[in-house]
Amino acid sequence: MAVTISQIVQAMQPSATMAMAAKAKERKAAGKTVYDFSLGEPDFNTPEHICQAATRAMQEGHTHYTAASGIAELKAAVAKQYQQRHGLEYAPQQVVISNGAKHALNNVFTVLCDPADEVIIPAPYWVSYAEQVKLARGVPVIVDTEQSNDFRLTPEALRAAITPKTKILLLCSPSNPTGTMYSPDDLAALADVSIEHDLVVVADEIYEPLTYGNAKFASFATVRPGLEERTIIINGVSKAYAMTGWRIGWSLAPPHVAKAIASLQSQQTSNPSSISQYAALAAIEGPQDCVEQMRAEFARRRDFVAQRIEALPEITCPNMSGAFYAFMNISAYLGRRFNGTKVETSTDWCLTLLEQEGVATVMGSAFGAEGYARLSFATSLEVLEAGFDAIERFLKSATPA
Ligand code: PMP
Ligand code: GLU
Repeated sequence: MAVTISQIVQAMQPSATMAMAAKAKERKAAGKTVYDFSLGEPDFNTPEHICQAATRAMQEGHTHYTAASGIAELKAAVAKQYQQRHGLEYAPQQVVISNGAKHALNNVFTVLCDPADEVIIPAPYWVSYAEQVKLARGVPVIVDTEQSNDFRLTPEALRAAITPKTKILLLCSPSNPTGTMYSPDDLAALADVSIEHDLVVVADEIYEPLTYGNAKFASFATVRPGLEERTIIINGVSKAYAMTGWRIGWSLAPPHVAKAIASLQSQQTSNPSSISQYAALAAIEGPQDCVEQMRAEFARRRDFVAQRIEALPEITCPNMSGAFYAFMNISAYLGRRFNGTKVETSTDWCLTLLEQEGVATVMGSAFGAEGYARLSFATSLEVLEAGFDAIERFLKSATPA
């Protein structure tokens, strides 16, 4: 019997961030030096009080199925957090708890897309959006943005991309991979176009607490009255509380959408881990100083990274106002040789840098931006320092083709 893979999965690209992280781990396992800036995940351990809540949950017998859409206490806590932080009124039934924000996003595309529905995704974009839209039988419509505008989608570019088939606009702020953020005014201008053309906006706010300098985060649904009706917010505990492995994220959506997502989850995955849900509850309801401590450490690293990139010849990077990524413009180095190896694309650049100096980054092409490389600074200052020394050596070795 020939076991064949479905066409839709054959056409899917595996996650490049995950693939580069696997390559870095392989190299480490072979005993070679690696400065791993590939994966966007906090290097901190999950705060102790959250781990203790998980232990307590197991001891108290919270080891059974929960409601497929998550425990009522966590939904209520998420709704309350959005009320307190942003003044948005969500009922607990509008919250669905999923296996990470990635799963929450996948649910949203699955319940909203009919075949050929178009989803506008500003590039550079996080690697999973377009693939998830295609798996949901929708059509990703990629709209380029400019580094000179910190890679923000403009209302004009949005308007130009809209067709009668457009259903969703995807926004990620603070942004993975660019590390930039939309101002409330930027968001309001995009909201006006979305209202005019009756679009749904999926707002990925997973990096919400990680902002730097004077930049101020605004939740998309707050920038114009009544936006809750057309907005689906994605968030979770992975980045804010250093809980990537626990796999808890969520969506906040209009009631009928939340109901559809809950129903989908009841057939596809059932509930996310009961123990992780109690841990996430402790994260949200417990002391928040751990979030600020981690943010402050990320801010120190961000300043360090900005300084080191500034000193790299012919490399630029947008102003990093949020998340933990530097999106470096490496285009000046394409077409050159590094210790004899010809480097033509951002993939060549990243693989050669890993091979020759042990520095793992992710190629811009995976984010829809050839000529760039993403560096995650969710790692210690010591590793960043040694890694940037290695990048400097690498760049110095460049010779014309
Ligand atoms: N959205 C963005 C922009 C991300 O960078 C990530 C990183 N993993 C996710 C969603 C998914 O988060 P999670 O680990 O909670 O699935
Ligand atoms: N979001 C992180 C990143 O972009 C984790 C990997 C992933 O989920 O793709 O590196």
